Amino acid sequence: MKEQLALLRELQNIDLELDDIKSEKEQIVARLKENTSFLDKLVDDLNEQKEELEEIRSLQIRKKDDLDEVKETLSKKQKRLREVGSNKEYKAVEKEIEALKKSAEQTEEELLHLMEVIESTEKSIREKEDKIVQLREGIATDEAEAEQDLADLDDQIQALEDRQEEARSEVSRRVIHKYDFIRKRRTGLAIVPAKDGHCEGCYMALPPQQFIEIQRGESLEVCPSCNRILFFWEDAIDDEDVSVEAMEEA
Ligand SMILES: [Zn+2]
Repeated sequence: MKEQLALLRELQNIDLELDDIKSEKEQIVARLKENTSFLDKLVDDLNEQKEELEEIRSLQIRKKDDLDEVKETLSKKQKRLREVGSNKEYKAVEKEIEALKKSAEQTEEELLHLMEVIESTEKSIREKEDKIVQLREGIATDEAEAEQDLADLDDQIQALEDRQEEARSEVSRRVIHKYDFIRKRRTGLAIVPAKDGHCEGCYMALPPQQFIEIQRGESLEVCPSCNRILFFWEDAIDDEDVSVEAMEEA
């Protein structure tokens, strides 16, 4: 049983290492996804702003037409002012001219404001376009690096899975079943040391008779409290660090 437990410890180290590498891969993939969605959002913003600019420009054209029309009417009225006969009519035309001048002034002011809005919108569009170019470059570099990292991680996974298969084949069916069952229920550790009469998984005291059985290492012992498989801590002193070795191999 001691040999079986040693194999389980090795298997657990491999499994933990695989968990780490797989979560590292997930993080890389998530980061790439985040990059892309950030870029997409910026491109959407840019397109929206370009549409806004088009709208402002067509408003500008309409306002210019309005202004031309007002100015034309104004010059007609001014011509007419010189031709009117009665004083009453003169006053009426003069009043119309005043109103037209005011309207022209107001439209000119609006056009000036629109010019400012157009300029700042154009500036913002240029800035966004520059930023998008930079971001695209950054993402391309990041993706190339990530691709290499992911390939390296896949190699590490392959090496670990080969060892995992090897270790599993050497453990008895009953023990491997127990191990898988516990690991599924308690993510992380399925086999833990028993030391000083305690389970190191949950720190509960073990019955003294069971602790003796664990030291003997002739039977499969599980913690009555957390159900994890137990081994005598001293048995693991010479265990090799599988994770470090797997890294060197990869
Ligand atoms: Zn326990």
